[in-house]
Amino acid sequence: MEAHNLKMSAETKPRTHERTKERKNQIPLGLYVHIPFCVRKCHYCDFTSGPFGEKARQMYLEALQEEIRSTSWRGCSVTTVFLGGGTPSELTIPELEELVTALGRTFPIDKNAEWSIECNPGTTSQGYVAALGEMGFNRVSLGVQSFDDSHLRFLGRIHTAEEARAAYHDLRQAGFDNLNLDLMFALPGQTLDRWRADLEEALGFGPEHLSLYNLTIEPGTEFGNRRVTGELKETDEDLAADMFELAMDLTRTAGYQQYEISNYCLPGRECVHNLIYWHNQPYLGFGIGASSFIEGTRWTHTTSLAEYYRTASSGLVTRACQEKLNDREALGEEIMLGLRTEEGISTTALSRRYSCDVDSLFSQTFQSLGHNGLLLQEGERIRLTRRGKMMANDVCAQFLV
Ligand code: SF4
Repeated sequence: MEAHNLKMSAETKPRTHERTKERKNQIPLGLYVHIPFCVRKCHYCDFTSGPFGEKARQMYLEALQEEIRSTSWRGCSVTTVFLGGGTPSELTIPELEELVTALGRTFPIDKNAEWSIECNPGTTSQGYVAALGEMGFNRVSLGVQSFDDSHLRFLGRIHTAEEARAAYHDLRQAGFDNLNLDLMFALPGQTLDRWRADLEEALGFGPEHLSLYNLTIEPGTEFGNRRVTGELKETDEDLAADMFELAMDLTRTAGYQQYEISNYCLPGRECVHNLIYWHNQPYLGFGIGASSFIEGTRWTHTTSLAEYYRTASSGLVTRACQEKLNDREALGEEIMLGLRTEEGISTTALSRRYSCDVDSLFSQTFQSLGHNGLLLQEGERIRLTRRGKMMANDVCAQFLV
């Protein structure tokens, strides 16, 4: 881990070129590739995404391949590849093949690697998803969001519930045995019963994985603007909490594990790529707005297309932000990320990794959160209680510097 490297004495440090060679052989990376294309912008979306004209789209794909080819992390072994967006299923099959080829020529990708791609209903067909499987993708995340057409229209989604159902069936037909469905709750006007119907329908399909997110209204989005004018109000907090509890209950009854606050899976079907984020392991992002975290440094690419095009082939895309975490910051991050997971954190392992006594360092915080019924300590393991999960952001923030 990075913290150990920082503490190495001068004598034990390999020389720079040896370190680079060693680093490339030793650091297994998760790769993220950002495809910002979308048919149109959803009303709640603040991701780096939107409609692209044909020329802009070609320029972006060329820059993306140049960035991949010129990366200084060439040669690192790779365990997961995740194409996210935006709408990666806006790419044609030949465009996807070129990207997959560029990645395969740049990195030794594990033959058992998880290859995930996000698809939106309304942008796929039977032939398209069959070709994804032939290309090597073995996990698909489908952006369903709701099975209620009035909610889909309200969200500004491009598809109907029927198209989402059809896309799911096409994926199964094509042989995919690792599928995620994204659903949103706490939509303005959504009742607990409507949310129950969405959950029951999703569970009825039997996907291996579910991502269930509370709608948040972000400034600068269509919904954010409507909130400013008073046209839109956020869902009542108590109702949103009831919906989250219902999600936890129905998924558990159906045999799913809530392995992270918003993510549920059948046993053994966690998203391996997302586990990299939550386990604070290294990942490398390509494309505008993509984030990376390697050797204790975290950075995020510019979201300016002009800047991205200008720098993509240099091997060092302009960064909108970059920070090198010190040991205390890195420890806080790791606790925050670990607490979001079902397994929680091991104070013994963290104390060893960061050469400190985590129990003493956070004894007051652990105690007070424990008294308030938000944290549960079982030996060396600490995890969120059910109440703690409902207030996860507030609880986790207490460990950050
Ligand atoms: S499809 Fe996803 S990325 Fe694209 S606009 Fe909608 S929410 Fe944003």
